[in-house]
Amino acid sequence: MAYLELRGIEKFFAQHRAIKGIDLTIEKGEFIVFVGPSGCGKSTLLRLIAGLEEIDGGTLRLDGRDITEQPSSKRDLAMVFQSYALYPHMSVYENMSFALKLAKVDPAVIREKVERAADILNLTAYLKRTPKELSGGQRQRVAIGRAIVRAPKVFLFDEPLSNLDAALRGQTRVEIAKLHRDLGATTIYVTHDQVEAMTLADRVVVLRDGQIEQVGTPLELYDRPANQFVAQFIGTPQMNVVPSLQLPDAVQQLGPQAAAGGAIGLRPEAVSVMPKGQGAIAGQVSLVESLGAETLLYVRTLEGAQLVARMSERTGLQPGDDVSLNVATDAAHWFDSAGRVVHA
Ligand code: ATP
Repeated sequence: MAYLELRGIEKFFAQHRAIKGIDLTIEKGEFIVFVGPSGCGKSTLLRLIAGLEEIDGGTLRLDGRDITEQPSSKRDLAMVFQSYALYPHMSVYENMSFALKLAKVDPAVIREKVERAADILNLTAYLKRTPKELSGGQRQRVAIGRAIVRAPKVFLFDEPLSNLDAALRGQTRVEIAKLHRDLGATTIYVTHDQVEAMTLADRVVVLRDGQIEQVGTPLELYDRPANQFVAQFIGTPQMNVVPSLQLPDAVQQLGPQAAAGGAIGLRPEAVSVMPKGQGAIAGQVSLVESLGAETLLYVRTLEGAQLVARMSERTGLQPGDDVSLNVATDAAHWFDSAGRVVHA
């Protein structure tokens, strides 16, 4: 059953149509992640749901109620911002209890809720401190705690981890995942970060230019992208997309007829690097990235294509070495000249 339902949602900024008729149905308890390139409309869509921007067309329903025209304060949603937006002069306890106090909730109930949230978020020892006496990660947890105590129908996160360093971002991501498992709260989360999208989401919504390109579980998007845009947006390093013309005839002919004149898409793990002369495609190493557990080898083929291969072993190869490539064509994605997937 639909819990949060977007139907034909539109947003204009002056003449600019930033959100173009978005349809999306979210189930209760789902963790939904919005991803897409800068300017695609992720934050705007989240702000429309939050009621921080006015909706110009379409309807928004939450738990059976039309909330399209409702002010933010009446929507029963809680938003956690990248900037935390904590009150600097208030203690952690006061920050977390503020909304409940405004709502005139019984002080004993407030205490119980704040203490429970602080416990879940490992903030019990910091309740008397002010935000400036906390680390970035602790501040972010206070911002999340402030949302939790309100027990909203939906949690909205706008790039909540982007101000944290890499280690803290990883830790806090794990905490958010645990929190979702424990509370089962319906969550919409905007991020630039592939890893956050892939690890946190039940379903990922890929946006481009104010429209949805594809909605699916992280692995559906990775394994069965609907088009070249999604194929290249999901996955790091990016999927190799090589124009058919830059492939030897033998490889080209494995693809479906409709992909002629289009391109082949290969995940880096579908490309293997072999000694010169042994593989199907001749090339030369242009760059080696040793990441410890894996090595990324960038190879330029004789036909001028650039491919990256992900190898789990350490190869000892150097830039300038002549090599050859084999491609796992059974794992290939074929695209027509418009970038649409063509099934083999
Ligand atoms: P980023 O990842 O860079 O934050 P985004 O996907 O969140 O990008 P939005 O901030 O939603 O993108 O912006 C979508 C489009 O709407 C952009 O073209 C942006 O310039 C425009 N836009 C957003 N807010 C406003 C505003 N208040 N006034 C005018 N244009 C806006």
